[in-house]
Amino acid sequence: MSVSGLCHVCESAEASHTCDQCGRAVCDQHHDDAFGLCLDCSAGVGRGSGSGTGEEPGHNDTGDNVRF
Ligand SMILES: [Zn+2]
Ligand SMILES: [Zn+2]
Repeated sequence: MSVSGLCHVCESAEASHTCDQCGRAVCDQHHDDAFGLCLDCSAGVGRGSGSGTGEEPGHNDTGDNVRF
């Protein structure tokens, strides 16, 4: 890829990945292959941090619609 420069996290290792979310270049150590995100972003995955496009919380269970 055309990723050149240093990791934006540690700024000491050569970046070899680009975060899918923030677009920053990060080194292998600070890139989460499972998510394709930098550790900064992958740490927020699943934990709604008010960043929109999140997953809706459970939509079932003790339905509050079952009032009969
Ligand atoms: Zn790094
Ligand atoms: Zn990121």
